[in-house]
Amino acid sequence: MKRLAFAAGIALILPATAPAEAQMDIAAGAAPDHPTVTVAGKSYTPFGILRRNMGTAADQLEPFPPHRIIGNIYYVGSRTLSSFLIVTPQGNILINTIYQANVPAIAKSVAQLGFRFADIKIILGNHAHADHMEGDALAKELTGARVIVMAEDVPALAAMKPGGKRHPIDEVITDGDMVSLGGVTLTAHLTAGHTPGCTTWTTTATENGKPYDVVFGCSLRSPAVITPEIEASLNRSFKIVRALPCDVPLGDHPAEYRMVEKHARLQPGGPNPFIDKAGCTTEADIQEAMFHAILNEQAPKH
Ligand SMILES: [Zn+2]
Repeated sequence: MKRLAFAAGIALILPATAPAEAQMDIAAGAAPDHPTVTVAGKSYTPFGILRRNMGTAADQLEPFPPHRIIGNIYYVGSRTLSSFLIVTPQGNILINTIYQANVPAIAKSVAQLGFRFADIKIILGNHAHADHMEGDALAKELTGARVIVMAEDVPALAAMKPGGKRHPIDEVITDGDMVSLGGVTLTAHLTAGHTPGCTTWTTTATENGKPYDVVFGCSLRSPAVITPEIEASLNRSFKIVRALPCDVPLGDHPAEYRMVEKHARLQPGGPNPFIDKAGCTTEADIQEAMFHAILNEQAPKH
């Protein structure tokens, strides 16, 4: 029970079912919450970013009002854990099944939007942590969808067995591979660091006859202890993410793209707040600043 050692305030925000990433990172980190970085006038600490991402246990479970983001892309996740539905004439794609406990709520959100959960043909994920991909087994049971995963995340996924269920893996892909269904193509970009197989998915969506580049970002959050391997991975990933064509930044946690704020600005006939070219590198700016600050603290002092 590593969690017993956590600061009380942190323990309260973690769900009983425990996000693997939160446990890992907090257990590895020192009790004081440092370093602090300031990006675009806002201050961030490691725990602060974790709290921003995860919210409370209730936030993680409670469905956020499902909504269309752009074109054929919809939000069907919870208040703090993203799940995206991409609708095609030949069936649908789901990115992130969240925790197994979230799957019924995702199915309900899909139905509320007027689609059938059973029409999901492909399940993808951003990275092999339970708060994003634990629900794969149950979602596959309910839909028969193919689960396609990034090679480098296979070991972590194989170890993810909610209720003893084997994690389904129907197809293993590598960096640059594409997944297509019903005229939609998603490209997998390996953006490792947060996990070895962290995958940023990109696609194009059309709205009012115009194409927009959509980026489903994987977390760029650095672990509390940065190994030389993770350092190299993150350095590569920040470069990749910054170079991606992007009009609509999305992320595996809604806070990474300020979903709540943008959703509140949605108005029939109004401009689409999710089109946010200027915001495409905001999350990378925050996480890269934190990454360098942690590295700086880790550097041997002479
Ligand atoms: Zn994670």
